[in-house]
Amino acid sequence: MKELILELKERVKTGGEISYEEALMLAEVTEEVNIDQLREAAHELTIHFHQNKPSLCSLVNAKSYLCGEDCRFCAQSVHYQTLTERYGLIGIDEIAEAGKKAEAAGTRHFCIVTSGAALEEDEFEKVTEAVKRLRAETALEIDASIGHLSLERVKRLKEAGLRRVNNNVQCSHAFYPKIVSTHSYEDRLETLRNLREGGLEICAGGILGMGESREDRIQMAFELKAFQPECFPVNILNPRPGTPLERMPRLDLQEIIKTIAIYRFILPKSVIKLAGGREFNLGKFQEKVLRGGANGLVIGGYLTTCGNPVSEDMKMLERAGYVLGNGTAKAE
Ligand code: SF4
Repeated sequence: MKELILELKERVKTGGEISYEEALMLAEVTEEVNIDQLREAAHELTIHFHQNKPSLCSLVNAKSYLCGEDCRFCAQSVHYQTLTERYGLIGIDEIAEAGKKAEAAGTRHFCIVTSGAALEEDEFEKVTEAVKRLRAETALEIDASIGHLSLERVKRLKEAGLRRVNNNVQCSHAFYPKIVSTHSYEDRLETLRNLREGGLEICAGGILGMGESREDRIQMAFELKAFQPECFPVNILNPRPGTPLERMPRLDLQEIIKTIAIYRFILPKSVIKLAGGREFNLGKFQEKVLRGGANGLVIGGYLTTCGNPVSEDMKMLERAGYVLGNGTAKAE
């Protein structure tokens, strides 16, 4: 196994690729010592392609709950009785204020997130205005996660100064019907194609631990590889009370650690960003994962759950060997 890890690492480092079958072979490592080798090789690739600057972003949940889709992990779906706070799209002033607060806390990348499959035209206009305002009044890079986007909307966002759009596929194509029935995987891929065509950066990843197989987990990364996402966020299910996945057992820790390391071999040039569920599922092992494939964090909390205090995340990044700019959390 050691030879395989070294061979694949060298191949990726010199611009080559690994196959789906090879990724599955890597996932077969069971010995602690081999898992450590896999992580170390993944970290070497991270440093080779990204140096030791972490990618950090924080988000504002600009519209909560009230979503007609039925994603089985999601506490914002109207199909499930959850205790999630409910509100329509917040005002431009509130979005701008949240962005300024995030900037003051040290992040450079700020993502405007709304629940729902797509925004109504008046809502979309409001988000576009908020992007323009933040570009004018802060030094932040602005991202958005606002559901399905036509090519025309992508172009409008680009004009407003948006950098990147998050549109997670959540899981593999094959597993998708077990997670969502109200829209298709193809809908998600169409948005990714529009983003590429319209010139916005792509942030697309998924959620581990929803009952999918190891093959599904690996397959998802290969499906997204076709889009060469600038960022590949990895969420790990933190089961929300009231959702159909509320009793889903945790995915095995070693499996999570291996999967993220293998993602680095598949997507060497993408930022691999630990997102929702990292504290719940990884706890103190987050540091290990930041030295084993991942090189970014969503900081300051998520959509329906709280996160680590930002200062703790900063210390964790430093312990993992990342360099934060000018004594602040500015990175990437
Ligand atoms: S993940 Fe998005 S589209 Fe799916 S239910 Fe939640 S808010 Fe709606």
